[in-house]
Formats: sequence, C-alpha cells, structure tokens
Amino acid sequence: MTRRAEILAEMGLAPVWRLRAQREEVRAPQQEGRTQEEVVTTGWIPLKAAVSGCTRCALHQTRTQTVFGVGDEDADWMLIGEAPGAEEDRLGDPFVGQAGRLLDNMLAAIGLSRRENVYIANVLKCRPPGNRNPSPDEVEKCRPHLLQQIELIKPKLILAMGRFAAQTLLKTDASISSLRGRVHSYAGVPLIVTYHPAYLLRTLEDKAKAWQDLVFARKTMAGKA
Ligand code: URA
Repeated sequence: MTRRAEILAEMGLAPVWRLRAQREEVRAPQQEGRTQEEVVTTGWIPLKAAVSGCTRCALHQTRTQTVFGVGDEDADWMLIGEAPGAEEDRLGDPFVGQAGRLLDNMLAAIGLSRRENVYIANVLKCRPPGNRNPSPDEVEKCRPHLLQQIELIKPKLILAMGRFAAQTLLKTDASISSLRGRVHSYAGVPLIVTYHPAYLLRTLEDKAKAWQDLVFARKTMAGKA
C-alpha cells in the first residue's frame, strides 16, 4: 500500500474517495473594505507580541495563553478554524488534539503539511471558556490580528474550516453546504469553505465531502500557480 493509500485508509476514506475531474469556476477575488487600523502591518515580531499581550476582550482573563498560529509563514495555503480548545490553550498551538491529527492526515493526503507549506490559525486567538461559541464582540476585537496575519503571509488561498469560521469570515448565515464548492473572498484572498475536522470526527459520512473540498481547493490553487 502506498503512503497516500495508508493515510486515506487510516482516515476511513479508502477506497471510496476518488480524484474526479470537476467543473470549477475561479472567481476574481473581491477586495473587502478594511479600516486603516486593520491594514497596518507591523511585522511578525510586533504582531506576535501584540497578540500575546492582548487584552482587547475579556478572554484574556480566562486564557492560559494565546494561540497565535502555526506553520510556514510564507505558505500559499492558509487554514482558518474557529478558536483554541482546551488542548490548544494548554499547549499554545492550533489544532493539536484529535481534530488536529485528522487535519494533518487530510493535508498529507494532498501533499501538504503544517511544517512545510501551510499556515494554520483561528478566528480567535484565545479560548472561549467551556468551548462556547465566540461572541460577535470577541470576533470583532480579534479581527485585526487575523487580518495582519493574512497581510504578512499573503496566502494564495484560504480554507475556512467549519460553520463558525465560514460564516464569520464571509459575514453570512448561509449553511456550510450552500457555501462549499465555490470560491469566495476574504480580505482580497480567494476563500474556500469546508467542514471543521472536529465535526468530521463525529460525522464520518461527510469525510468524503471534505475530501472533495480539498481536491477542489488544490485545483483552484493549481490554477493560480
Ligand atoms: N478547533 C478550532 O477551531 N481551532 C483549534 O485550534 C482547535 C480546535
């Protein structure tokens, strides 16, 4: 068995997942309106310091530490999740639990790795207590941090993982299923929506759809090379 086949089998995806030709349309990115404060790019070191000392919202009172992001700071791919959970709050990196292992396996299946060519961050840099949903105020206070990360990385593609990230970034109430399979835009960067890895751990039947999303994302990226 090849390494790729092993990974797919481990994820419960083989042999049903197949790479299929799909008709896709890549839409031109639309620039999103941003305030002056949000587009100021300070550089990695000041941005990391600003995030780790951030007290813009009440989450700083309950966090163990901020979870800035992880991966290749020059990556073409940027993956954005919701917010740190308990493990991430403890260890300081995003997606380090079981969902993170599934995410790493899915990335490996298309030749990507958080160590080499992907950057992973969250909408929020601090854990909401009890893993509750982030509040609109917390999202708004944290938004400049995410926008500055995007400015610095300059990804060619953003993958929004899960309903919360997709709806927040795209400012919509639309369902994940209606947002999948199209190229949206966030902060001027093409954005594709897929399921959250934690959801996939609970809903095995949607893993195949997540694979379709990754294949779609890879083809979209190939069109940009
Ligand atoms: N879920 C997320 O959305 N982000 C993490 O970092 C961990 C779990």
